[in-house]
Amino acid sequence: MCTGMPHLEGMQTHAKTMFRRAALAALAGTTLTVGAVSAVGCAATSHPSVPADLGAPSRSASLDAVVDEPGPLTVETVIGADWAVPRSGLLNLDHPEAKAAKLTDGDEPIHVAFHVVRHPIRGTFLVDTGVERALFEQPDEAVIRGIAARVARADTMKRRTDTKTWVEQSGAPIAGVFVTHLHMDHIAGMRDVPAGTPVFVGPGESTARSVENLFVASIVDRALENKPPLSVLGFERDPDGAFEGVLDVFGDGSFWALHVPGHTPGSTAFVARTPSGPVLLTGDACHTAWGWEHGVEPGSFSHDKAASAASLARLRTFAAKHPTIDVRLGHQSLTRSGPS
Ligand SMILES: [Zn+2]
Repeated sequence: MCTGMPHLEGMQTHAKTMFRRAALAALAGTTLTVGAVSAVGCAATSHPSVPADLGAPSRSASLDAVVDEPGPLTVETVIGADWAVPRSGLLNLDHPEAKAAKLTDGDEPIHVAFHVVRHPIRGTFLVDTGVERALFEQPDEAVIRGIAARVARADTMKRRTDTKTWVEQSGAPIAGVFVTHLHMDHIAGMRDVPAGTPVFVGPGESTARSVENLFVASIVDRALENKPPLSVLGFERDPDGAFEGVLDVFGDGSFWALHVPGHTPGSTAFVARTPSGPVLLTGDACHTAWGWEHGVEPGSFSHDKAASAASLARLRTFAAKHPTIDVRLGHQSLTRSGPS
């Protein structure tokens, strides 16, 4: 059973602590052992889902063969807000590299972003959603509100460009939204995307059960309330084994989805071919620049740290094979020339 937010009032202290841990963890993952909770809890959302009507199963060798060829897409990364969250969630501080660097916990500055992918024929798509205007102007009406907003310190997000402002200024219809995963900081702008816009999500992302979802499923439900059933991308196993799955999204080799589970079960990265070279959107397979540069996977925010480490390693191997690739991480800029 999964009936929305529990009441904090009346909880014992340990229960409140548990709630805070779970709610913050569920913001971007979980601190709990997957096996211990997989049979209980609830799904990430009660929003219905259907198989996606686009995406051709492919293989990493096919991606490798074309990815460095100029392509027809453009990718614009829009920073919705600046924020800060615990470093121990963003990075596995027990990793030998993190220990060698003497990284400690504390607030790490991050951004919340979305990407605009324009295809000359298929139209304009978003990858993730930024932050809705209501969070800044009508916080009591925002998707992230109430106890979850306080636990996540959503009031400390500093607006750069809310999603409604971008949608109004863009003018172009949005053909669809690809979400890298369903954590609240990736769907926080969903209600500013026009009603009825299709939303694409990785396999198992909306249906995998966890205790943490008890605390955030109502938020995900709210974010999706004016959207059609989620379209679940139909990955098949990559015959070359470089990724869990590879999809040629539009069937023309311009835009690719990579199944990179671990941070969440359905975590998905994307590769877009542009006239100036390929762009890799990692989602939260890697949150931080330091994590990417040192090969250190996300920390307590992840559902399955071992799988998360494997997926990050796969993405870094792929990027190393294609050194001109423009890597855009989940929550930080990799270079000073890109969005910071
Ligand atoms: Zn996340």
